[in-house]
Amino acid sequence: MSPTISEIKSLNVAIIGAGAAGLVSARELRREGHQVVMFERQAQLGGTWVYNPGVEADPLGSDPSRAIVHSSLYASLRTNLPREAMGFRAYPFVSTGQPHWDSRRFPGHQEVLLYLNDYATEFGLTELVRFETEVVYAGLVEDGKWKVRSRQENGVAVDVDEIFDALVVCNGHYTEPRTAEIPGIDAWPGKQMHCHNYRIPEPYRDLVVILIGSGPSALDISIDIAQVAKEVHVASRSDEAEVLRKQFGYHHIQLHPMIESIQKDGTVIFYDGSMVLAGVILHCTGYNYHLPFLDTHGIVTVDDNCVGPLYKHIFPPVLAPRLSFVGLPWMVLPFPVFEFQSKWIAGVLSDRIRLPSQEEMMENVSAFYLSLEASGMPKRHTHKMGAHLFEYNGWLAAECGVPVTEEWRKKMLYATLQNYLAHPGTYRDAWEDDDLVLEALMEMATVATLD
Ligand code: FAD
Repeated sequence: MSPTISEIKSLNVAIIGAGAAGLVSARELRREGHQVVMFERQAQLGGTWVYNPGVEADPLGSDPSRAIVHSSLYASLRTNLPREAMGFRAYPFVSTGQPHWDSRRFPGHQEVLLYLNDYATEFGLTELVRFETEVVYAGLVEDGKWKVRSRQENGVAVDVDEIFDALVVCNGHYTEPRTAEIPGIDAWPGKQMHCHNYRIPEPYRDLVVILIGSGPSALDISIDIAQVAKEVHVASRSDEAEVLRKQFGYHHIQLHPMIESIQKDGTVIFYDGSMVLAGVILHCTGYNYHLPFLDTHGIVTVDDNCVGPLYKHIFPPVLAPRLSFVGLPWMVLPFPVFEFQSKWIAGVLSDRIRLPSQEEMMENVSAFYLSLEASGMPKRHTHKMGAHLFEYNGWLAAECGVPVTEEWRKKMLYATLQNYLAHPGTYRDAWEDDDLVLEALMEMATVATLD
């Protein structure tokens, strides 16, 4: 039986981060009647989408004491998803047609930041954010509440401790670089960096550059750099080479298998025996989940890039529902997933939606981990959603009692993926799914009934 209005709980909730995940969480929690404070260490909202031309002092990002630059955006970045599929369901990401906005279907990063600011204004979220306020500690206290210690630096650091009924972690996971381990690299005389610190091609003018990786960033950045560099070489695993080969046919970029070893004189040897004398190695090798502020007495850990144990990638069974995470899954449509996740959290926190028992959640998590292991999935891919995305969204939608992912959105994602695989160099400017765009725009007109 559903609880009555008087039984629904209203909690005082801290959200860490005012990126897309934090913003949508704030909206959903408020709609459910909770009080919300969003802690944001940057001076503006938007998280990843706040482009920062500055980079970190340590180009590989391995020094834990370095001053952090949050965003990994490079100047030329355009979205890799079409705007209709990328946007929140409750607030479609359509072109406003205003001057200075980017009306392209796969717009530049500035457009996404404008959209997130519009979203925050529309739902009155900006006033919930404490800017330039970093959470340096969030720890469990008695009766399941959370102590949040936040820091403001105004010449001197001022720390403030507060107690909240619940904590929602939305701190993003594209800031802490992961680098490739290569024999001999420590003695290598050249420059090394991670793509977290790549912004513009100019510093690579006339250099011989090797990129490691094959994801969307490696693809974009190698093309960017090829405009000015003397040579660009890309090292990727063989199963990932096909897309790159199609793309690099047009750009005089040389494709190699992975690096086998590196000589002291700067010669890089690849697994097929080919050699390159390079000046720079750029690691486009992904990111690690990083929760340096979180103290759960060891209940939640980050092990081999798996945050766990978590029920449905959101609640640690032992600490549910007072601790939750929004935004951990990858290979997803991020904004819509955040929307489903935060609806569920908001409803669970008010007791409108019931969780299974702690034991049942734990059993579910164990079974999930066993199934990943049995299918040969590495642990670091625990939060990789890929083909399971719409099943996951559908499960959350059913729990929340809201409509599942729109058919046009599903088809659009597959159409974009096919287009990317077939035409990686032009997929952002030429497509064949205009019928889906039309369908999307028509359905968006009825958005209020879907929210
Ligand atoms: P973030 O946007 O990273 O926000 C986290 C926020 O938490 C930040 O504002 C940060 O300052 C704050 N924070 C962190 N720690 C603390 C702390 N201790 N105290 C206070 N505040 C803290 N997604 C798409 O949908 N389409 C794309 O085309 C796309 N392209 C991408 C390209 C790149 C290069 C990258 C890196 C990501 C891309 N993404 C894309 C994924 C993107 O990360 C998500 O769309 C989304 O922005 C993630 O939102 P988030 O709120 O989870 O994290």
